[in-house]
Amino acid sequence: MKNGFYVADAHCHVYPDAIAEKAADNTGVFYDVGHELDGKVGTLVAASRLAGVDHCVIQSVATSPRQVGSINRFIAATVAAGDGFFTGLGTLHPDSEDQRHEVERIVSLGLHGVKLHPDIQRFRLDDPKAMEIFALCVEYSLPVLLHTGDKRYDYSNPNRLLPVLERFPTLRVVGAHLGGWSIWEEAVARLKGIPNLWFDCSSTFAWVDKWKVKTLIEALGADRVLWGTDYPMWTPKTELDTFLSLGFDDASARKILWENAAAVFGFPTPAHNA
Ligand SMILES: [Zn+2]
Repeated sequence: MKNGFYVADAHCHVYPDAIAEKAADNTGVFYDVGHELDGKVGTLVAASRLAGVDHCVIQSVATSPRQVGSINRFIAATVAAGDGFFTGLGTLHPDSEDQRHEVERIVSLGLHGVKLHPDIQRFRLDDPKAMEIFALCVEYSLPVLLHTGDKRYDYSNPNRLLPVLERFPTLRVVGAHLGGWSIWEEAVARLKGIPNLWFDCSSTFAWVDKWKVKTLIEALGADRVLWGTDYPMWTPKTELDTFLSLGFDDASARKILWENAAAVFGFPTPAHNA
């Protein structure tokens, strides 16, 4: 709880301690930035509590089909050990042989959705293999957190995302980084107002001026945006302070900091958060 708001971090990557720093390094290299924290679960909990973050949505991305099972078991075990602090999302890989089996495993592990990263996993969002994943997510009612946007590639850009949203109108999608990392303005212009699409504002404040971030969030609407850190890339306290300094009214801040994430990913709101 910070400044009277319950706070959920809707975008956190976590790794087993033994490989955390290396995994975080790899992501940092891909985006040509460092990472402020180390990717370990304990560090996320400590940094979240320090910042006043009350709940974290955690996930990790499989870069090959054989990683899918072990990552999903790790996320589920972390949720189980977290005493209600975490909601977990599963990973899938478009090259898995039995996609339905992997989705059923995610459901049976009690995970609340799926995270996909088309740029790191190297698939186009509208590829037939991805479409198979989305059809299964609709069938099993799993929301999808998608990395979206990269000016260097077009795996996850609006031209690939729009056909998915059109073909699966009941699929709930959260487009990370305001729908288009490094192509923020174009993404917001093309993606606003789509009923089955939400956005998170993680990994945005480091690149986009504050006044511009506020304009972009307002264009999407406070009902549509989730706050998140992209841990371990950024420090929760700094990211939360930046968000709070944007000057949203209390009702909007409550939605962005908790209610939208709770609704999309299906975790409970404390009874006294009214
Ligand atoms: Zn991510």
